[in-house]
Amino acid sequence: MRIAELHTHVLEAPLQQPFGWSVDRTTVRKSCLVEIVTDTGLTGWGECFGPARPNAAVVNAFRHLLIDADPLAGDVIWQNLYNRFRDQGQKGLVISGLSGVDIALWDIRGKHFGAPVHQLMGGPMRTKVQAYATGTYRLDDADPLDYVIREVRERMAEGFHGVKLKIGIDFEEDIALIKAARQAIGPERRLMLDANHAYDATEAIALGRRVADQNIDWFEEPVVPEDLASYREVKAGQPIPVAGGECDYTRWGFINIFTSRAMDIIQPDTCAAGGLSECKKIADMATAFGIRYIPHVWGSGIALAAALQLLAVVPHTPARLRPREPLLEFDRSEHPFRQAVLTEPLEHKDGWVDIPTGPGLGIEVDRDALRRFAAAD
Ligand code: CA
Repeated sequence: MRIAELHTHVLEAPLQQPFGWSVDRTTVRKSCLVEIVTDTGLTGWGECFGPARPNAAVVNAFRHLLIDADPLAGDVIWQNLYNRFRDQGQKGLVISGLSGVDIALWDIRGKHFGAPVHQLMGGPMRTKVQAYATGTYRLDDADPLDYVIREVRERMAEGFHGVKLKIGIDFEEDIALIKAARQAIGPERRLMLDANHAYDATEAIALGRRVADQNIDWFEEPVVPEDLASYREVKAGQPIPVAGGECDYTRWGFINIFTSRAMDIIQPDTCAAGGLSECKKIADMATAFGIRYIPHVWGSGIALAAALQLLAVVPHTPARLRPREPLLEFDRSEHPFRQAVLTEPLEHKDGWVDIPTGPGLGIEVDRDALRRFAAAD
């Protein structure tokens, strides 16, 4: 079997209601999907995290190394692509492009063997996963203490067991929102914080101390991803577990985080950090360092499906009679093609999502949706 075709699909959809977070604001959703077709007629799908057109440019730059290669030799292809681009490509777009290709190759492998990806990876460790709701983005003109808390209540009513609150916008308002959110969801359910690296270490430590009594599961991206020294200060200076890693890449990026003890929880994005192959390696490394692994998920249903296949095989850290299970990040903010690209949506039921058991990623892609949401040239 050989790779016969490589296609990138850049999708784009305007939002009805633009939204913001600590460091940016968006009016659209975009994504780069990767389609690999074999000479035997199998099709594999992947997705890249990050800016869609640059992602597509990177994937297309891999073309001459992919066409005619054996799609079942996914690890050989990974190493070949990585090594060819290593000198300028250890992080960022090159690895996001590689991630989309790797996920598509896993989808082909699963379809070829008639098995879900997680089975070929030696699982499942679990057949369903608890989801937490990501959202609480900021609208242009309204009081977040009103609409954010209303959204938090809606997520709880939908059955989610936890919600992640966007902060990093205004220090005192952030603290008021955290306290109001905890009051709205009650003492039992999970509350997480995500600053999208908008604080410095001094602010992050002060905030963590101010809300230390609010039973927060983790404090995500308190500081910029390059600055592991600040991460260590935040980890040492306040009591909330520190999470991060959605802007980090490959085993070599994460070994620095592990050995410097910069984070309590790592959150590699399967569509950015190197794909399913690399993220399984990172997850195994995390167990060796005693660090929790909860993937970052942000994208279409293909990204969601890839994360679910990985979540099926994330090891327990530590193993025990009643182990702590990893969680699925389930973005609930507006995304016109998140579910539309799938013929059957990946939805939650009372806050739980079943891990698909069909071949490969366990999903079918709706080609009408690809045409409908194709970005204009
Ligand atoms: Ca985040």
